[in-house]
Amino acid sequence: MAENSFDVIVIGGGPGGYVAAIRAAQLGKTTAVVEKDKAGGRCLNYACIPAKTMLHTAEVFVEAKESEHLGVKVTGAELDWDALGKRRTEVSSGLEGGVAGLFKKNKIEFIEGEASLTDDGNVKVGDTTYEAGKVIVATGSVAQAIPGVEFGDRVLDTWGAWSLPEQPKSIAVVGAGASGAEIASAYIRFGTEVKLIEMLDQILPAEDKDVVRVVERTFKKQGIEVSTGTAVENVEAGKNSVKFTYGDNSAEVDYLMIAGGRVPDVEVLNLDGAGVKLEDKRIGIDEFQRTSNEKIYAIGDITRGPALAHKAMEEGIVAAEHAAGKDTHPVNIDLVPGPTFCHPQVASVGLTEAQAKEAGHDVKVGKFKLGGVGAGSVYEDRDGMVKLVVDKKYGEIVGAHIVGNRACDMIAELVATMALEGGNQELSFIMHPHPTISEAVLESARAVDGWATHA
Ligand SMILES: Cc1cc2nc3c(=O)[nH]c(=O)nc-3n(C[C@H](O)[C@H](O)[C@H](O)COP(=O)(O)OP(=O)(O)OC[C@H]3O[C@@H](n4cnc5c(N)ncnc54)[C@H](O)[C@@H]3O)c2cc1C
Repeated sequence: MAENSFDVIVIGGGPGGYVAAIRAAQLGKTTAVVEKDKAGGRCLNYACIPAKTMLHTAEVFVEAKESEHLGVKVTGAELDWDALGKRRTEVSSGLEGGVAGLFKKNKIEFIEGEASLTDDGNVKVGDTTYEAGKVIVATGSVAQAIPGVEFGDRVLDTWGAWSLPEQPKSIAVVGAGASGAEIASAYIRFGTEVKLIEMLDQILPAEDKDVVRVVERTFKKQGIEVSTGTAVENVEAGKNSVKFTYGDNSAEVDYLMIAGGRVPDVEVLNLDGAGVKLEDKRIGIDEFQRTSNEKIYAIGDITRGPALAHKAMEEGIVAAEHAAGKDTHPVNIDLVPGPTFCHPQVASVGLTEAQAKEAGHDVKVGKFKLGGVGAGSVYEDRDGMVKLVVDKKYGEIVGAHIVGNRACDMIAELVATMALEGGNQELSFIMHPHPTISEAVLESARAVDGWATHA
């Protein structure tokens, strides 16, 4: 094969792109990844991983300060912002090296540079054109500000908020989706004054109301000023602070951070020229991730559905397998779990109770408080809850919602149950290890039929 020719070329080395490349290489395809920045993409270098590294420190900091009742006395616990920043960088760069190592191990060529598609569906980087059997586009998304406001020194996007050189005294977070909630949750525990402002009528607007109630109560107890149904307006960014109004209030804070959504990073790709069509501002795809140009696949944040790393990875597998000519199975977009790593964590899959009713399901619900199982007391996780939304006819679980310290790990079981078409009755007879918080999942399944044993 010629030097500049590959069976599969992946544009973008984020979770979608690097996983797609590895799978294509595993299937014996000569594969290259073109990346204009760092291996691992935004998720690993600027988003998921740095955010979770910061959140972990927030958790450890609070535990250090508030563990006297557990029999651990810590005096003088304080944050070392520089050490925290250093660790955040080290965790990401270690993982970036890990992805680069996987490229090498799988004999994937890593091409540095910005790629675009040629009109005949090959890939151009600088002055070089690479011939591709198939192309997988995985260029991710970029932050979007709110109307009339631009990002700048004092107006931050999510990465700006996670990488501040010093701890701010005050921050206002605009947008209380997963990213906004995580930033508010970390900074309040670091000791920064936090306002969390959401235009819709609840924080975490995509989540079930019962779960959101628990989070909002905790946020307020922690000291976050929460405003819902409120738009931020009249933003004036100065040299040392930002002024703005929200509802009938006005405020001045060190930083205003906007977690107002993301848009696909597709501008330089020459989609039109290559015959790749957009649908609803994202790249249109079929069930095997093929675009309107069948030689070109698209995965991750640039396609429909929630912008999440695990969705991008799964789509990468499907695209790579299909591109390699292997039988594969389409991604079930209804079963993408949504994790939010605030405190308490929130995780869900499928429909909320309200969505299930709206979709015409005859719904029954099982709720179980984490305080009902022994582990809830041992691990101080009593306030959380598991809620299952079930269709009455066959007991099909159509939605699962967890709030609690381990929610993002625990949701995987419910994704698996739903994927394997298990209902609440099957789940009611599956043993869960004791004492673990996961016993609340078992109890929620029984609660659907009114026989939770620890209720
Ligand atoms: C603050 C924050 C926290 C998040 N936390 C989570 C989380 O906890 N869990 C979760 O599942 N998701 C999380 N997400 C979402 C997650 O980051 C994205 O869904 C994920 O990164 C999408 O992966 P991707 O492969 O589509 O794109 P990306 O990770 O965005 O990677 C795309 C790559 O393509 C490169 N690229 C773009 N254009 C070109 C070009 N023309 N040529 C060459 N290279 C190009 C970019 O440099 C980038 O490296 C978070 C997002 C944010 C902003």
